[in-house]
Amino acid sequence: MTRADVVAERRAYLEGGLADVACWRCGACVRAGKRSPQQTSVQWTVRAGRDCATLAAADAAGRPRALVPTCPDLRDSIDRAAREGRLEVA
Ligand SMILES: [Zn+2]
Repeated sequence: MTRADVVAERRAYLEGGLADVACWRCGACVRAGKRSPQQTSVQWTVRAGRDCATLAAADAAGRPRALVPTCPDLRDSIDRAAREGRLEVA
């Protein structure tokens, strides 16, 4: 990753009100934020897409990614982060 990439990522992070959340199971790290308790936005990085066991399994099964927008373990991790106050509900 170049320095410019880091700066751009940092800016997106600050503007989006998103926080890094790692999946407790596969360790895939995404940016997540909540606009309300019910609504969660998740930004997958290319790296997380590769790291996530659930998405990898979907790929292996030939299922298109759009049908597997997030992995349930990651969802757990995000909910937990929100409960523990590590995610800002904007
Ligand atoms: Zn996962």
